[in-house]
Amino acid sequence: MGDYFERIVDVEVGAAEAEALGARVVDWMVARGLLTRGMSSESMYSSKVEAGYVPGAQWAGIADNWGADWLPGPVAVIVGRHPHHGGQGETEPEYATCPHCATRTVIIDYPNRWEAEPTVWQPFSSAIEEWVTAGAGDVTCRTCRTSAPISTWTWSDDFALGTLAVEFWHWPPLPDTFVSELVAQLGHRTVHHTGKF
Ligand SMILES: [Zn+2]
Repeated sequence: MGDYFERIVDVEVGAAEAEALGARVVDWMVARGLLTRGMSSESMYSSKVEAGYVPGAQWAGIADNWGADWLPGPVAVIVGRHPHHGGQGETEPEYATCPHCATRTVIIDYPNRWEAEPTVWQPFSSAIEEWVTAGAGDVTCRTCRTSAPISTWTWSDDFALGTLAVEFWHWPPLPDTFVSELVAQLGHRTVHHTGKF
């Protein structure tokens, strides 16, 4: 129980605005009765924050017919530059897409390989580390030889870099209508992950 999550990552918001935007999204969910301002760490296993907001009285309003005895866990708001992984564990992304030429660089060659090719992944991994610690890191595309900030590369659906993420722990599957409303509140491009701790 409690080990499933659904996550919306804002992949565009800048580090300076992420905290205020996260607070606005919490205000919006509190105003709808989906969350309270109470915090709990029960039933959540985020590797990035200790506690999340406790569901409010109206939480079931976005999860019709899911059963009255379901108890959703907290909703965590993660602010700060982080790599986010969908699925289970922290597997590297399957591929990265160059922002200039749109060529995909394959990082894990499924189903032939189940691990990242070290020489391919290394420059991405270094740039991600630089981005996390210093706010910027570049990678040169193997195809077009153009260097681009790591934050402008896009990824297979299982991976995202973002400075704001909202994680729903052990909620029923979020309906598309609610996800669209949440994305509209963020006002940026987002990546939607589901996964298991
Ligand atoms: Zn390229």
